[in-house]
Amino acid sequence: MRQPLVAGNWKMHGSRVDNASLVRSLLDLLRPDGGAEVLVCPPFVYLWETGRLLKDSDVQLGCQSVSAEAQGAFTGEISAAMARDVGCRYAIVGHSERRHLYGEGDALVARKFVAAQSHGLVPVFCVGETLDERESSRTTEVVARQIDAVLAVTGAQAFARAIIAYEPVWAIGTGRNASPDQAQDVHAMIRTKLAALDGMIGESVRILYGGSVKAANARELFSMPDIDGGLVGGASLKADEFAQICAAAD
Ligand code: PEP
Repeated sequence: MRQPLVAGNWKMHGSRVDNASLVRSLLDLLRPDGGAEVLVCPPFVYLWETGRLLKDSDVQLGCQSVSAEAQGAFTGEISAAMARDVGCRYAIVGHSERRHLYGEGDALVARKFVAAQSHGLVPVFCVGETLDERESSRTTEVVARQIDAVLAVTGAQAFARAIIAYEPVWAIGTGRNASPDQAQDVHAMIRTKLAALDGMIGESVRILYGGSVKAANARELFSMPDIDGGLVGGASLKADEFAQICAAAD
């Protein structure tokens, strides 16, 4: 039985005051007996303060990216060890905005995955196809290639300590979510692919769906057999909506 996980990716939004008030409202609204694990990923500069606010709660802290490098002269980068040091448990790697806006390719994403794990962070490893790729029937090929790039470096065992997020690029921030059936097909493909390498890992790995998840569509998406929760961008910035999404995953 896989515990559902709902992760909020706050991207580059808010201020100290906004973020603190978002966390406080969220803590008020989340059901204390909720069955889903909840994770928030604020901007780096707010990690420490957010972690302090979350300290007596079950809500987990994650960062939105990490450097592939361990330390040194890498201006502007934040290492996995630093993220761990300020209380992170999870790190998003391979988000489509990093891949497409900052040119992070499969090989770099694989190195970030390794860097995160080697410092005790659980990677939330994002995969997904563009609209062009979907329309030219290349979804399976693209997602499989993104996963293979990590597998080639880590082997299947590493996925015992990782989360996968299927995020079709055309659904992120567009208001146009994948239908539950479209998402389920890709999730099932990912699970089958990993199960072919290691049955236990295929069965137990949590695969989140991300791309315009809202309170209105979350329950239907999360009811699919291979969807284990969501990675939520825009809707995670509204405490009441995010709390409803978390409740839909319980
Ligand atoms: C995301 O940022 O990972 C995301 C899925 O964004 P949104 O929910 O806004 O589509």
